[in-house]
Amino acid sequence: MDERAQIGRLRRVARVLGLLPVVGVVALSVGCGEGPPRDSEGRTQSAAARTGSAKPQTVTTGTKAAKPTPSPARSTKAKPAPSTTERAAESASPAALIVFVNVGQGDAILLKSRSTEVLFDGGPGGAAGAVEAAMRKAGMRDLDYVVVSHMHSDHIGCTPTIVARYHPERALIAGPCDRDLRRAFASARTQVRQVRRGASLSFGSVKARVLNPGAVLGDENADSVVLLLDVAGRRILLTGDCTGPNESVVASITARGPPLYVLKVAHHGSRYATSSSFLAETDPRFAIISVGPNPYGHPTPETVSRLRHSGARVYTTQRNGTITLTIRPSGSVTWAFTKSHKPLSKVATAAAKADAASTRGSGGGTTVYVTESGECYHRTDCGCLSHSRIPMSLAETKAQGYRPCSVCDPPR
Ligand SMILES: [Zn+2]
Ligand SMILES: [Zn+2]
Repeated sequence: MDERAQIGRLRRVARVLGLLPVVGVVALSVGCGEGPPRDSEGRTQSAAARTGSAKPQTVTTGTKAAKPTPSPARSTKAKPAPSTTERAAESASPAALIVFVNVGQGDAILLKSRSTEVLFDGGPGGAAGAVEAAMRKAGMRDLDYVVVSHMHSDHIGCTPTIVARYHPERALIAGPCDRDLRRAFASARTQVRQVRRGASLSFGSVKARVLNPGAVLGDENADSVVLLLDVAGRRILLTGDCTGPNESVVASITARGPPLYVLKVAHHGSRYATSSSFLAETDPRFAIISVGPNPYGHPTPETVSRLRHSGARVYTTQRNGTITLTIRPSGSVTWAFTKSHKPLSKVATAAAKADAASTRGSGGGTTVYVTESGECYHRTDCGCLSHSRIPMSLAETKAQGYRPCSVCDPPR
């Protein structure tokens, strides 16, 4: 164990240990105050975002109201405006930081609330650097929990590396554990627990309910651990790759409360998840798709169109980069993006569709190759493709901002 891990372990011993059941804990924050004045789309932009000069780009939103439909079951009564001191205290300690890390095709989500640090999925193989960089940036020095939605490589590829480095106290999983990951948990002395629908968890000030799986039936995606987070009255649904009939169960439980603030879209925007009825019941204000270059067509135009029709603003890690939400105790949220801050537009969706169709129609044009998390495109035999090798048209690589590899010097 290195020095940092030892310090982390000592720090954790001083903390309250254990999965604190929240049964009997009253009064989740509801009816949070209205945020700052909004434009017609219900948001305000920070000065940095307005000038477009600073990175990452940030956008601050107030509470509900961006969508045309009225939001049920939520008090809209505004709180008195906070005093300067209150504002300073709030900005110093957000209720939570949630980071959707740009790991290419896969999922890696960080959550930090008070001193509790959680990793929800670790990303695909080769993404450890990106995950660790995001953890450092978020001020995360050790991990209390690792939640593994399911055992597919795009969610756990680099989790053993992260576990070996950060020695998480506890791991929450759904079904049988992947062999490499089990070894990593064993050598890090991480306690592993299976969770089921109905369990209540607590991560710092964040309450989480497990909505899936009810039982493990052997379909990894369908059995994904699904968590409904409540952060200062904001509801955020982390879905893993949950698909099929389980999605309707998740929707019907979620529908018992106010609309979702953020939906982490299941299965990278696959057409087999995120049905219209799911969206009608959960009513997300924002949707985040964690996705990178892939041969499956994720996110599919059908799913993006369903999301847009539901009224959700759609962001993807591929387009917007790593997406960070800083949620304050009042419920106001600051969004930061390491790439564009613009949501997926109808135009962009249609253009991508037309581009894909023309690429198919012309026999594909020049094909080059990209990796799950790299920023360059390559010739077919480039040594940089040892971990992953995803074919893509040259036009598409340009549209997505890939650079030509300096080793193999592919066509430009
Ligand atoms: Zn999966
Ligand atoms: Zn996946």
